[in-house]
Amino acid sequence: MENLSIDIDELKSSYEATLKHLKSVKWTKKTALTVLEKMGDQTFENVFEHQCVPGDEACQYDSCDIGMWLDRKRGDAEASRNWLKPHLKAYRDYVEQNKDELDEYLRQQGCKHRLVIDDTGSRGGERNHYYLSLQEVLGGGAKSIDLPSCHIEYQVRQIPKLLPCFEWMRRIDLEGWKIRTYLGAPLTLGVGWVLLMLWVLPLNNDQHLPALVLYSTILVGLWIFVHPFYDLVNRRVSMAPSWMLPFKVLSAQLEMVPTDGRKVNGAPIRSIRLVRYGGDCPICGAPIAVISGTREFRGRLIGQCNESGTEHVFSFDHVSKIGVPLRGNAYYGISNKQFGNYYRDHPDC
Ligand SMILES: [Zn+2]
Repeated sequence: MENLSIDIDELKSSYEATLKHLKSVKWTKKTALTVLEKMGDQTFENVFEHQCVPGDEACQYDSCDIGMWLDRKRGDAEASRNWLKPHLKAYRDYVEQNKDELDEYLRQQGCKHRLVIDDTGSRGGERNHYYLSLQEVLGGGAKSIDLPSCHIEYQVRQIPKLLPCFEWMRRIDLEGWKIRTYLGAPLTLGVGWVLLMLWVLPLNNDQHLPALVLYSTILVGLWIFVHPFYDLVNRRVSMAPSWMLPFKVLSAQLEMVPTDGRKVNGAPIRSIRLVRYGGDCPICGAPIAVISGTREFRGRLIGQCNESGTEHVFSFDHVSKIGVPLRGNAYYGISNKQFGNYYRDHPDC
């Protein structure tokens, strides 16, 4: 099966939902279930810790690798293959025989795809490798909304690399001292500035003025560096500052997402993570990059085509991962009757 692009989040959601389903129906094939779990553990470690792309070589495993994860000795390839074969078949058979029930469960969990174990085939005598992949579930997804034919579906295809000194910023779970620092630091610095003002200004003494100016300048400088992290408080997504990215990573996004953890009040614990959204332009097929909008799109993130950056422009919604054309007066926008009224009322778009 051709595996060109997989959304990391969708792969993880589908994997977790599938495991949950198999456990809830008390699937009896314990070894096959463990194979699936181990493949997931290894794949997501490679994807999230080592910035590998799902389906690429680093996320493909041969039967010897998989056997070793289940404490089998690394024997000859033939023996490993024969051992693995019935376990893979057990999962594939289950999916095939229970497709309707499984798909319905996945849809309820908001997944658009079902999890499959794909393989590279043993072309040219090379050893067969196995990897996790996705197949579309018809009618899947959290919401069914009529979309224009040239909409874009964004994907997180790879976690961007960071400069080594900023590696700890790749994912920050906002709990304990981290949330206190995140919220407390700007508050403390701001209160410090106000107190300094209240102390210095009544003195009417020029000697203290340089200290006030210096402190204010430092605060403004700090804010310029860190404001993308605080834009997340109400926007949940922002462009990652370029100082934390290696030179060859042109752009990435910061996203504040809910985790499975819960606070005392029941609200989800959130985490800040670094991601890079992308997609393929539905008009010309070129790569789409998510950037900060300018001019009429100021204040929002948009998807911009690599080949036609002024005409092929799309909205960006990091929750639905869907974007629609923003240029109503482009040839593809005019023909889009579903959005005709919107564009008539917004002639600037
Ligand atoms: Zn394009």
